[in-house]
Amino acid sequence: MLATRAAMRVAVISDIHGNLHALDAVIAALENERLDAVWCLGDLVGYGPRPNACCAKVAARADICLVGNHDLGVLGELPLDEFSHEAAASARWTQEVLKDDAREYLAGLSPEAVAPDADIELYHASPRDPVWEYVLDAGAMRAALEGTDGSIVLVGHSHVPLVAVLEDDQLRADHASEGTEVDLSTGRLLMNPGSVGQPRDGDPRAAFLVLDLEAKTARFGRADYPIERTQEEIRERGLPEPLAERLAHGI
Ligand code: ZN
Repeated sequence: MLATRAAMRVAVISDIHGNLHALDAVIAALENERLDAVWCLGDLVGYGPRPNACCAKVAARADICLVGNHDLGVLGELPLDEFSHEAAASARWTQEVLKDDAREYLAGLSPEAVAPDADIELYHASPRDPVWEYVLDAGAMRAALEGTDGSIVLVGHSHVPLVAVLEDDQLRADHASEGTEVDLSTGRLLMNPGSVGQPRDGDPRAAFLVLDLEAKTARFGRADYPIERTQEEIRERGLPEPLAERLAHGI
């Protein structure tokens, strides 16, 4: 007799930012991963040129999807004067082109969630501020783990892949480059999968994370994508040039 299978192999993606070619590359890279679920930590739109297609693809595939600060800015739920000049300009452009189905999808999402049947907590930004706080330094990492109960805490927002372990009150944290493997049975873990559509760790390739909750391992992955195609689309739409330029450098 077959038991009902919980989500054992899960892909975690985040910060797609309207970069369809990066999202397609990640979806292709995940094809052979025998996934039970896909979780997305938010920021589907903003910065990038293909917001509608990215929303449609994530809506079709993600079992859990959070809303991010850029999504909320585009929805008019966060004031755009809190954003950088380029982020605000791209948010205003996205407001003009976003179709009703994408808008409705984003409007139904929350910036935090708990995974079903698993003690894993998901936040777009951080547990104490699910919309805005960047978890990049040891203090913010410790606060994120001390303010939660789940054995794994997943965050996005900073666009920097990282893994932090809290064990016997000691925090160990590292940038999680491609191929980083994590033993999920040690301590409590905070992980950021990095960004699909606008990586900021100096590696321009699209980032993702695969959790194997049965084997208790995780692996950080990267996927090459045709960066120049997204850059062309950014320029064709008249979005700010630095948004195209930075994609080549992963910053
Ligand atoms: Zn983002």
